Amino acid sequence: MSSKHDTKAAGLQPNTPVQFIPGVGPQRATLFQKLGLQFARDLLFYFPREYEDMSQLRKVEQFEENVPLSVCGNVEEVDLHHTGTGRTVLGVLVQQEGRYVRALWFNQPYMRDRFSQGQRVVLSGKAKLNSGHWEMAHPRVETLTADQMVPAGQILPLYSLTEGISQGQMRRIIQSVLDSCLEQIDEVFPDTFLQRHNLLALRSALPQVHSPATRELLEQARYRLIYQELLVLQLAVGLRRQMLAGDFQAPQMQVTARIDARIRRLLPFDLTDSQNQAVQEIAGDLNRTTPMNRLLQGDVGSGKTVVAVYAMLAAVAHGRQAVLMTPTEILARQHYATLQHLLEKSQVRIGLLTGTLHQSARQTLQQNMASGGVDLVVGTQALLHAGIEFAQLGLVVVDEQHKFGVEQRAELRSAARAPHYLVMTATPIPRTISMTVFGDLDVTTLRGSPPGRQEVHTYLGFEHQRGKWWDFFRRKLREGRQGYVITPRVEDKGSVRGKSVEEALEELANGELEAFRLDLVHGRMSGEEKAAALNAFHCGQTQVLVATSVVEVGIDVPNATLMTIENGNYFGLSQLHQLRGRVSRGNHPGYVCVFADSTTHESPERLTAFSETTDGFELSEIDFRLRGPGDLFSTKQHGLPPLRIADLVRDTETLEVARRDARQLLEKDTQLNDPMYSKLRRMVLTRYGDSLQFSDVG
Ligand code: ADP
Ligand code: MG
Repeated sequence: MSSKHDTKAAGLQPNTPVQFIPGVGPQRATLFQKLGLQFARDLLFYFPREYEDMSQLRKVEQFEENVPLSVCGNVEEVDLHHTGTGRTVLGVLVQQEGRYVRALWFNQPYMRDRFSQGQRVVLSGKAKLNSGHWEMAHPRVETLTADQMVPAGQILPLYSLTEGISQGQMRRIIQSVLDSCLEQIDEVFPDTFLQRHNLLALRSALPQVHSPATRELLEQARYRLIYQELLVLQLAVGLRRQMLAGDFQAPQMQVTARIDARIRRLLPFDLTDSQNQAVQEIAGDLNRTTPMNRLLQGDVGSGKTVVAVYAMLAAVAHGRQAVLMTPTEILARQHYATLQHLLEKSQVRIGLLTGTLHQSARQTLQQNMASGGVDLVVGTQALLHAGIEFAQLGLVVVDEQHKFGVEQRAELRSAARAPHYLVMTATPIPRTISMTVFGDLDVTTLRGSPPGRQEVHTYLGFEHQRGKWWDFFRRKLREGRQGYVITPRVEDKGSVRGKSVEEALEELANGELEAFRLDLVHGRMSGEEKAAALNAFHCGQTQVLVATSVVEVGIDVPNATLMTIENGNYFGLSQLHQLRGRVSRGNHPGYVCVFADSTTHESPERLTAFSETTDGFELSEIDFRLRGPGDLFSTKQHGLPPLRIADLVRDTETLEVARRDARQLLEKDTQLNDPMYSKLRRMVLTRYGDSLQFSDVG
C-alpha cells in the first residue's frame, strides 16, 4: 500500500525487465539474460558466490603468512615476463606507505590490462615471504577510483559475472534494485513461523546478503535464505511423496514365519547378519499399504542380490508379481540365470525382457505379464516402454540405481501403478542426495561381505613391471583361475588412445597369453553374442575374457580372480572399484593390476587411491574430494533446477532441519492448503512443479 506513494518505487517494480533498470539498457540486458536474470526481482535473488572481507584490511607491517588478508595501496610497477615455453609471470608491485607487496599471476597475461601505474587497488588473499619480500599469488583485486573511500571494514559481495559486467557494476545495479524494490518483495513465511524458527525476515535478509553490515548479520541472512531454499525443496519432495503414496495403495504383503522359512529353503546359503537386518527392514515395509521407497546400498560384492531375491519371493508368495530392472542386458541375463537356477524346483515362473528380445517372444511375455502368467520379470530399460502392463505388480527392484536417471525411475513408477519400490546401489549416495533428488528414500546399508570372501590385492602397474605381472597372471591361470583384461574402448575414436578390445585380444593371443583360451566381450555385440561369451567364461571354457567396461556391473564368476586394467586413467574411481568387484567373488584372493596410459603424464592420484584401499565407501569420499561435489551431486545433474544459495554438501545440517520442518508442516496439512502458507505453496509449485511432475497438485 505504502509503496504506491513511494516515489522511488514508482519506476522500478520487481517485475520490471532488467533492461529498464537504470544503468542496464538493452545491450547489457542480454548479458544479464545470459546469467538467467530477466526481471529486477531476479537480481535480488542473485546471491554472491563469496565475499571479500575488508574487515581484515592490514598494513604491510602487520602481514602474517598464510592467513586471509587484504591490503590497500598504489600500483608502482607492472611487469609481464615471458619465461619461454609459452608461460608467463605477471608481477604487480603495490606500495603502501613505503612498504611493498608483489602480486603474482602465472599464465594469466590478460590480467596485465587490469593495471595501470598509480592506480589504487585492494588486494585480497594470502601472503608469503619470499627472501624477505611479501608476495601474494593470484590475489583478488578491487580497483578504487582516486576519490573512492577505502572500503575498510566492509564485507564486499563477489558475484559470478559474465564478460562485459564488472563486480562494481553488478554491485551498484543490485543495490539500486534493493533501494527501490525491497519494500515490494513479499515475505513467504508467516510472522509466527519466522519467530518460531528464529529466522530473519526476507526484507532484512536480502540487503544483508548483498551488502552485509557484519559477519553475524551476513550469517543470519544466509541461513534464512538457505533454509528457505531447502525447505521449499523438502516440501516439494514431501508433496510428491504424499502424492504417490496417496494415489497408490500398495499391496500389504506380510512375510509370515512360513513364508520366511519357504524362501530361506530356496537360498543356497545362510544370510549374513547384515543381510538379515536388511531383509527385516524390507519385510516391515512390505507389511504396510504405503509403498516402500527404500535404498539398499552396499559395497560391490556385499550380497545385495539375495536380499532382492528374498523381497521378490515374498511378493510372489502373496500372488503378486515382481520386477528386477538392471542397467545392462548382461546383468539382466545374469540375474535371470541366477533366479532360474535358484527356483529350478519351484513353481515360480520367470521372464526376461530386454531390448533384443524377438518380437514374438516379447509379445508372449507381455501377454503373460498382463495376464499374470509370469511371476518374476528381469529386464532392462525395455521394461519402461509404453504398453507394458502387469496384472498384479507388487514390487519393483532396480539394481545399480546410480546408472539410471531420476526421470527413468519416475516413468517406471507410473507405469507400474502401485508397487513397493527397492533400489540398490554400490555407489554410496550421500544422505543429502537420497533425501532430495531421490525423493526421500529410506536407507538400508549392507556392511561387510559374505563369509569366506578373500581380499583383493591391487597393484599400480608400471611399464617396466609388465613382464612380471603377466608371469604371475599365467601362473594363476595354470592353477585353474580365470581372469579379465579390461580396456577402455571399443574402437578407434580420435581422443581416446590405447588399443581397442579387438586389438588387445589379438595382441594377447599372439603374445603374453598365447597358450590360453581367450574371448571377447564388448558393448557392440548383440545380446546373444554377449550372453554366449559370458556363458563360456562362466563355465570355464574361456580362461580369459578381454572386455570393455560392459562387465563393470554385476558379472558374477567366482573363479575369476585376475584382472589387468589397461589405460586405467580413462576410468572413473567408482568404475574402477566396480570392475575390481568382479574378482572378489569366490574363495580365492583376487589380484588386480592397473596400468595407466603410458603416453599421458597426468598424475594418477585416482589410481593411487584405488590401489591403496578396497573400501568402496572410502573411495567414494576420495572421489568426491578429487572431483568436487559439483558435477557428481548437483541437483541439475539429477534433473532438478539448480539451487541458488544452498549447497547440498555443505548445508547438510540445515537440510536436516528443513526436512523435519517440511514433514511437520505436511503432517498436519497434507496439501499445504492453509492460506497462511499460500505463498510458500506457490513457490514450491513454481519451482518444482515441472521437474517433479506434480503440476496436477497445483
Ligand atoms: P552385490 O552386492 O555386488 O550385488 P552379489 O549379490 O552379487 O553382490 O553377491 C556377491 C557374491 O556373494 C555372490 O556370488 C553371492 O552368491 C555371494 N553371497 C551373497 N550373500 C552370501 C552369503 N550370505 N553367504 C555366502 N555367499 C553369499
Ligand atoms: Mg549386484
